[in-house]
Amino acid sequence: MKNVEYYKPQDLSELQEFMQAHTARAVLIAGGTNLIHQMRSGEKEPEVLVDISELEDLTGIKVEDSYIIIGAVTSIAEIAASPIIGQHCPILSAAAKQLGNPLTRNRATIGGNLANASPCADTAPPLLALEAEIHITNAEGQARTVPADKFFMNYKWTHLNKGDVMTRITVPKPNVSAKGSHTKLGLRKAAAICVASVALMLENEEGAVKRARIAFGSVAPKPIRAYRLEQYIEGKSVDDKLLSDCGQLLQEEISPIGDIRGSESYRRFATASIFNRNLLQAWL
Ligand SMILES: Cc1cc2nc3c(=O)[nH]c(=O)nc-3n(C[C@H](O)[C@H](O)[C@H](O)COP(=O)(O)OP(=O)(O)OC[C@H]3O[C@@H](n4cnc5c(N)ncnc54)[C@H](O)[C@@H]3O)c2cc1C
Repeated sequence: MKNVEYYKPQDLSELQEFMQAHTARAVLIAGGTNLIHQMRSGEKEPEVLVDISELEDLTGIKVEDSYIIIGAVTSIAEIAASPIIGQHCPILSAAAKQLGNPLTRNRATIGGNLANASPCADTAPPLLALEAEIHITNAEGQARTVPADKFFMNYKWTHLNKGDVMTRITVPKPNVSAKGSHTKLGLRKAAAICVASVALMLENEEGAVKRARIAFGSVAPKPIRAYRLEQYIEGKSVDDKLLSDCGQLLQEEISPIGDIRGSESYRRFATASIFNRNLLQAWL
């Protein structure tokens, strides 16, 4: 690894000041579980690392009015153990519990998982299905809010610009009648990178799906919302015909690649299978 300057701000105003003065050179480091590996491999060569891992202003989980607020530097372990997340966003809880291994979860943060923007980022599909919003402050101190599905722009490309800091993620409290379901398919049950994943939220009323929010991971250049599937399902009841029609539509929504974890055709087959299972779970 090349030599790198290191700066650790004590609070948000110090962070802001530093980011403004060093916009072009500063790279944030939270848990470092992605970034250190990328620096070792030469994929990234930051000149100045800005350590935000202990900034309390960016950490923690709380409920305010009708939103669940998650600081961007909150660890995956804290999210996995949080009673608030368990109660209101069990699909996010499930994804956090399956990210990496206990050591990784202790260091890894939700903001780092999203900012790294891997198509297989485990927290992305649940946050897409929960219609989360990402809050960002730029180097001049201006804040903006981006819906999760707009945040991911393409392969490893997000809405974040140089000098931006993701500060928090907000999730609108799901309707009490909403049911969620999530599956991460890996080559083994623990410490596995995702081969395909699905997260969905359904609101059912009078024998039909009133509202569907569906997201996939690892089957496109970025984590995706499946808008056409959602539209097709809404207003209908889940039966054999719907499952078969969804199977076809789903193949048009996803564009998986083949790699060492699975061929394109395996990913297509497996995604359809886990989608059906999750849809039925949230329907019944
Ligand atoms: C052994 C191992 C297993 C893993 N398994 C999984 C897995 O199963 N599933 C999975 O999804 N991931 C996995 N990962 C990847 C990684 O742990 C996660 O993506 C993690 O959440 C990254 O968070 P971090 O805080 O470590 O990010 P960092 O490495 O600190 O940062 C990653 C990127 O995000 C940027 N960044 C960080 N925080 C912010 C912020 N607040 N605002 C703006 N930019 C920011 C950084 O500049 C950097 O570019 C694994 C990693 C390891 C080492």
